[in-house]
Formats: sequence, C-alpha cells, structure tokens
Amino acid sequence: MLFFNLYEQSSVIVTLFSAICLFFATFYASKVRYKKGLIYFLIGFVLLVTSSQLQQNTMYFYAYAVSVRTIVFVELLLVVLGTLCLIVSSGYILLKKALETMLLFLFISIGILLAVYAVFIADNANIVADIRQFLPIIGMACVFISYAVESKFWAHIGQLLALVAIGGFITLMIYPMFFDTLYSWYVPVMLVFLLSFSYILMQAETLKNEIRLMSKSQKKTAMNIKNIIKSSPFPIVLSRLGDDSLIMANINALKLFGLDEEQIYRYHFKDFFVDSDNRKLLTERLEHNREVHDFEILVKTATGNTPFWLLMSANVIEYNNDIVLYSAFQNITLRKRHESVLQSQADRDPLTSVYNRRYFENKVAEKIKNAHIKNSSFAILMIDADKFKDINDTYGHKIGDKILIELASVCERNLRQEDVVARYGGEEFVVFVDNVDKDTAITVANRLKKAICDVVVYSDDKIPVSVSASIGVAISGISDNVSVMIKMADDAMYLAKQNGRNRVEMYDREKIEQIVIDVNASEKQIHPAFSGEEIKEISLLDGIESSSLIED
Ligand code: GH3
Ligand code: MG
Ligand code: MG
Repeated sequence: MLFFNLYEQSSVIVTLFSAICLFFATFYASKVRYKKGLIYFLIGFVLLVTSSQLQQNTMYFYAYAVSVRTIVFVELLLVVLGTLCLIVSSGYILLKKALETMLLFLFISIGILLAVYAVFIADNANIVADIRQFLPIIGMACVFISYAVESKFWAHIGQLLALVAIGGFITLMIYPMFFDTLYSWYVPVMLVFLLSFSYILMQAETLKNEIRLMSKSQKKTAMNIKNIIKSSPFPIVLSRLGDDSLIMANINALKLFGLDEEQIYRYHFKDFFVDSDNRKLLTERLEHNREVHDFEILVKTATGNTPFWLLMSANVIEYNNDIVLYSAFQNITLRKRHESVLQSQADRDPLTSVYNRRYFENKVAEKIKNAHIKNSSFAILMIDADKFKDINDTYGHKIGDKILIELASVCERNLRQEDVVARYGGEEFVVFVDNVDKDTAITVANRLKKAICDVVVYSDDKIPVSVSASIGVAISGISDNVSVMIKMADDAMYLAKQNGRNRVEMYDREKIEQIVIDVNASEKQIHPAFSGEEIKEISLLDGIESSSLIED
C-alpha cells in the first residue's frame, strides 16, 4: 500500500486528492521558484504515508513488545508533523518565503502538545481518530489553495478539481457494489464542496483578471487626472461630491484660495463661497447637468479676505473610486471691476455722476410696472435751473458746471434710496419719487426747490453764486408710460417758468391731449380711469393755483 489510508471509507478520494496535489506541486515547483515548498510537501507526504503505514501494521510492532499507546502516539506525531510540513509548504508557495522559524516552532510545539494530550492525557479514541482524519485534510487544503491562488491557471485547476469531484461521485456510486463497507455522510458533502470550489476557481481567474485590469486602468486614469491638474496653468480643485471636502488642489488653486497643501483636507468647497445663494444655484445646476460652464462665483480665501470673483467650469467625474467635482477657475475680479465701471459710466452722467436719461427711462419703466402691481402711486419731477444761461455768461461755464454738480448732489441727498435722480438735459434734472401720493410729491418738490436755492458756489472772485429752479410735478394715475409722464412733468415745469420761476407746479389738465399727440401715445396709454371727475382732482385749482403749494 503506497498511498496512505487515513480512514477506510474515503480513502479513494483522499488518495486522488493527494495525488493531484502532488502533481501540481511537482509541476509548479520544478517549473518555477518554489522548490522549498515542494521539498516540504514531499516530507509531509512521506510522514503522512508513514503514519498510515504504522496504523496498518500495528501487529508487526507488537512483536517487538512496543505498547499500543506508544505506537498511536508516534503515529499521531507523524500526522501532526506531516500536516505541519504541508502548511509550511503552502507558506513557501503563497508567501514566497518560509514561515518564520518562530512560528514553525510554535506549530510544532502545539502539534506535540496536541498528540500528548490526545494519547496520554485524554486517552480518548475519538480524539485520536479525529486528529488522524482532519489534520492531513487541513494540510492538503492549505497546499492546494496556495497553489491555486498562486497559479496563473486558476481556471485549469478548477476544471481538474471538477473532474476529481465528479470522479469521486462515480467512485462513491460504484464502491458499494464491490465492498461491503458504507462510506460516511461527510464524503459526498466534501465532494459537493469540492465541486463548488472548482466552479469558483474556474470563475476566479476571469474575475481576477478583470479586477486587475480595472484597478490598473483606474490607477492610470487617476494618475493622468492628477498630472493634468498639477500641470494646469489654471487653478484646479477636486472636491468630493458626497461631503464636499477638498481632495486635491494644484499650486495655482492653493495660491488662489490661500491654502497649504496639507491643509486642504480640512476644508470643504462651500467654505470659500461668500454668497450661499450663489452656492445653491451651482449645486442645482450640477445636480441637473453634472457640469457647469462659465459660472460666476463670488469667493473668499481660506483666511476670509476680500471677496473676489471667479469664473468656474466644473464636471462631475470618477476619481479613485470616488465621485468628485473637477473645478477649474479663472480670476475675473479685474474684469468684473472694469465691467462695473463701464456699466456705471454707461448709466451715469459724466459731469454730475447722477444717472443719465437713458438709464432713468429704463429704470423708471420698471419701477412703474412694480408700482402698478403693488397698486402704489408715484410722481415724476422735472427740475430746470432758472436763468442758467445768465450764470454761465456772468461767471463762466466752470462755475455753471460746479452749480450743476451741486444741484445733482443736493437732489440725491434730499431723496430716498428708492427714488431715482437723473440729468435729463443741460440744466434739467428729472426725479422719480416712489410710493408717494400727490401731497407728499408736492412736499418733496418744495423741499428740493428750497435745497437748490440754498446751494452756494463761489466764483473765482469769491462772489457767492446761487440758483433757483422751477419744478413740474406729474403724479401717477394718468398713464403708465414713462415718456408720457415725463412730458407731463415737463409741461408743468414750463408752467412754473411762465408763472415767474422758482416755483412748483402740478401738471395742467388742459394739456393732456396735446401731450398724447406729442409723444405718439395710444389711447391705451391714457389711464382708462382718467375721467372728468378725476381731472378736477388734479386740476390747477387743486394744485397749481393753490398758493399753499408754492413756497416763496
Ligand atoms: P430758463 O430759466 O428759461 O430755463 O433760462 P435758462 O437760461 O436756464 O434756459 P436756456 O435753455 O436758455 O439755457 C440753458 C443754459 O444751460 C444754456 C447752457 O449754456 C446751459 N448749460 C447747459 N448744459 C450745461 C453744462 O453742462 N454746463 C454749463 N455750465 N452750462 C450748461
Ligand atoms: Mg433753465
Ligand atoms: Mg432748460
């Protein structure tokens, strides 16, 4: 009997199993580097065979008066040592080096203690039988798994294993036909396990290759992304989409946000946003499109210095098994500043710095719409400096300019934030007074008239120069059209001129029709509720002719 016969019923399986192991061990060890593994395997194999021979030839040793206990002990010792050799062999194969000597001694000590315990202390036949049966199986399994794992031909091993398992089943079926002994329940269970294991092995290589390829290409992609980010002349930041934390920033981004490379992990992308609504809009866009282009954001540095504007383009990408936001920035603070200067230049009068006529008309059209929605009233005031030509002629244009600047500033100072002042023409200013009724509008006009009169500018000869103004008031309710309203105020202003200047006049009803024709206004532009009754209410009698409105 060459092959060891550890337990009667499954000896065929174990024999086949060990033969296969031996085959692979020889094949790989001779082929490659694992010679030591093979040596240990062979030693283990010999020890196990010897142990099995001992068990079968107990009678022979009796002849030499050796006690049963000693024989069983030696036998078990051989099993334990044989198994250890198999484990060490698998260690060589798997770890490509011997298990540490210390560990080996530990195993041997445990093995000897186990044998001593089983034979001399517990003196239990079952324990002895168990050790005899299971230890070699564990050893074999170790060797087998280590070869399988190390092998590049998992699938082939799986196929062979499957053949072994199938062969085992066939053997199990024909075995009882020739022999009386029945096999134990765990033999078919083991075969089923073997078959499943072979299937896993067959699949494993494909899986392993796929995983290796995937992780290889992922690593490559991650490296590429990292290199692109590092070498970019633009500031670039990678932030995790899930928790918004920063995971990478190139040198330009570090400078831009005032960060140290080691610090970045402590920050979240949202920490740099000045305006939370701005941030919210960005998140919404990203959720919707997974990318944004030329998105303007107002941010601050890590230390929270002066806010600055960035133009941002971002994409949601995969990086190192994570979903991240790749954001590239361009500092547009200077551009924004220029834009706002240009915008302000386009909207404002260069001499007086108040708004110009174009801006006024657009802005007031908007405001009138809002007033209409809110059902609130408003007024438009036309202010014209009296006899301004004379001032120019007497003191020169420079003084005239100074007075115009003062007039504009005085108007602004005497109005609220929501009102709008604009230079309408040479020495004419137009004012939109929001949310006022007729009386308040007249009060405001009178206040402006007085404030203008109080302006004093000194000529080159230190002579104080003052000016008065005539103001025309048009109150809402007649038209929603800016031009119509301005024309009404202008008409009222001319009336003030006619009536002696330095006066406030309300719009005169007699001129309504004339105004409509002049500005090419349609019927609709005349307020439908503008009936004869209402006209009376804002008539000369009510406002203009009433001397109480005019401050002398
Ligand atoms: P009235 O009381 O009838 O309004 O008389 P007025 O002299 O103010 O009216 P008129 O329209 O005859 O003259 C307006 C003058 O305003 C003429 C022009 O020299 C002066 N003017 C217009 N724009 C400017 C400006 O930008 N600077 C200066 N200094 N004067 C200006
Ligand atoms: Mg004038
Ligand atoms: Mg004028």
